Amino acid sequence: MLLLIPGPVATRPEVRAAMAQDYAPWDNDFRTLYARVRERVRVLAGGGAETHTALALQGCGHFAMEASLRSFVPAGGRMLIPHTGQYSARLATLARHAGHDVVAPEVSQDAPLDPAVVANALAADPAIRHVGLVYSETGSGVVLDAAAIGQVVHAAGARLILDAVSAFGALPLDVSAMPELDSVAFSANKCLEGMPGLCMIVARTERLQQPEAREGGSWALNLGEIYAQYQRSGPGSFRFTPPAQVLASLDVALDLYEAEGGREPRLARYRENVRTVYEGMIGIGLVPYLPRAVQGPIVVNIHAPADPTWHLQTFVDQLKRRGFVISNFFNTPLPSFRVGCIGAVTPEDMRRFVAAADAALTEMGVHRREPAPAAS
Ligand SMILES: *Cc1c(COP(=O)(O)O)cnc(C)c1O
Repeated sequence: MLLLIPGPVATRPEVRAAMAQDYAPWDNDFRTLYARVRERVRVLAGGGAETHTALALQGCGHFAMEASLRSFVPAGGRMLIPHTGQYSARLATLARHAGHDVVAPEVSQDAPLDPAVVANALAADPAIRHVGLVYSETGSGVVLDAAAIGQVVHAAGARLILDAVSAFGALPLDVSAMPELDSVAFSANKCLEGMPGLCMIVARTERLQQPEAREGGSWALNLGEIYAQYQRSGPGSFRFTPPAQVLASLDVALDLYEAEGGREPRLARYRENVRTVYEGMIGIGLVPYLPRAVQGPIVVNIHAPADPTWHLQTFVDQLKRRGFVISNFFNTPLPSFRVGCIGAVTPEDMRRFVAAADAALTEMGVHRREPAPAAS
């Protein structure tokens, strides 16, 4: 069964095999492994040894985002979180629960966020000291120009919290060139092609050492506390019980990432996956949600076909019988289905998927495949 969802992704057998073992968290071999994974991730993010550090936390991507929002934005601080889609809405929810005063202007969900929108919002309201952004909006499939928006944030003297959960490892990132960046967060189970259960953050060491980084109303989801643990007990010490098998499998996933040639070849493979799905769907009479020019390399949304026989769960079940799993929900304003193009999957897998989708629709009797009139 091949997962075509934008995380957790399909993994390679070597990655899964690394889980088939018991680990003692305090054991020196495990500490060495954890310290190594942290270093590898810091380097991948472009972080300097003196300036940046990578931290890991039990849990999924949202945990890393919550920890970032609580550790770097002072309680009650005003934040700008433009509403780019489903995941920016979640970021805003996490920020509100952390007690922040969130400004979430409506912006287009079908095009990358214009940096001028951020510049104008910051100029209009100098009380906004932090901006929260989703680098790759997994809801829409649109990718933002995080570096360009970061420059605007920097120019305004504000700080940036970046959700790179569906971007890290594939889309360009150089934290050393982003002085405005407080933290970038991601999980093991998306573009790094590891297992679920572990999230990571790359942050500025100097910011982690400030006493405010240990406030924020949560003791467990607190990056200052995690950093203090490394200082107390060494760089391979995990605060509370780690998902040890997931960490060990991430180490293997990073080996495979290097063997593939690193970020650019991985992104090239994902782009080719997206191209194959995007064009293949048009070829079988369906209509992709986004114009080609703004379609990102992570996930493709396809308009639900107009035919009254269309039924998402039936389609999902039909595909499953043919060896593919896609989401049984959508995150777009209009009905759609989504196809994740990340993970250990190739353009050849995507070609087989297109054929399976065509066969499934035919068996369902979905003949009118263009979107319902209201949608086009
Ligand atoms: C997957 C994802 C998350 C986190 O999802 P979890 O289920 O918490 O791992 C956050 N942001 C984006 C953009 C994502 O794609």
